Amino acid sequence: MWNSYGFKDDVLMPNRFCAICGKTLGEDDPHFGMCLECYLKEHPLFELLDHLSVNICIDCGSFSKKEIWIEPVDNELFSIIKQAVQRFLLKSFLKRDNIDFDLSLNEESFIYSSKDLLTSLEVVIQGILKKDYNIKHQETIKLNLNHMLCKNCSNLRGGTYFLSIMQLRVKDEEQINLLKQVLDEINNFAEQTFENDHKQYISKIEDQKYGVDLYLSTHELLNYLIKFLKSKYNFLLKRTKKLVGRDKQGGKNLYRFKALIKFLPLSKNDIIFIKGQNFSVENITKNKVILKGENNTKLIKDYSYFFNGKIIKKKL
Ligand SMILES: [Zn+2]
Ligand SMILES: [Zn+2]
Repeated sequence: MWNSYGFKDDVLMPNRFCAICGKTLGEDDPHFGMCLECYLKEHPLFELLDHLSVNICIDCGSFSKKEIWIEPVDNELFSIIKQAVQRFLLKSFLKRDNIDFDLSLNEESFIYSSKDLLTSLEVVIQGILKKDYNIKHQETIKLNLNHMLCKNCSNLRGGTYFLSIMQLRVKDEEQINLLKQVLDEINNFAEQTFENDHKQYISKIEDQKYGVDLYLSTHELLNYLIKFLKSKYNFLLKRTKKLVGRDKQGGKNLYRFKALIKFLPLSKNDIIFIKGQNFSVENITKNKVILKGENNTKLIKDYSYFFNGKIIKKKL
């Protein structure tokens, strides 16, 4: 029989010993003059740091290594630990997708704090090469868990967190029902958004004359809400951004965003008295109102025109 070197087996066989341990090499050991065991010691399938520190939020189970908190797929501690190891240690290997990993927690290594929180443990990581099950490797890492509150939960507990304010205003008593309707819809919308992403919520609602101020947990939620309202209502929108300080940890500037929303005090077919003449509201576009006079004259006005106090609406 001819082997891959082009010699007959019996020519080479007598000289084939492992260069490390001296064991006679068999046909299954084509690892550059080493037996499989010695080869794997020299070239482990994967190599990891022997320790890892992970922050875990006591309230929501989110985990982080530094600043960015990751929401876990499920909220069970052992599962969170495995997710953190996969994310922070095995990510690059998992991307290549050539090794099957199996993680187990060494219960004998568990160390608990005085408050009965698991603070330290060993995680055993076994890997096996997908295309050759003879090639495997095992490492044990020491994992430290820091139990704390994530940014979001500490803000939630504090109850004072807001970065964005949405001011909803109507012109007079007549529009109070509109305001109530809008608030109901906003509450539903915000609840659904919170279901999908716990960072998004309304932290406070303050009554104002002819309106309310909504304190929102994120600027994102403000944008979602504006988009949502735009699809249903006509209003004047004024946005402002104010520097309120610096984030102590990240050193970034902190801004407070404000959006003032003034609902147009008109609907289609309303009759309005302007400069001695009656006009009916023929159409309302994204930013203009198209009016039709008694003698068929057309008048096109910006929304802002109707907030100046000189409009007399006629009841039909
Ligand atoms: Zn060997
Ligand atoms: Zn949390």
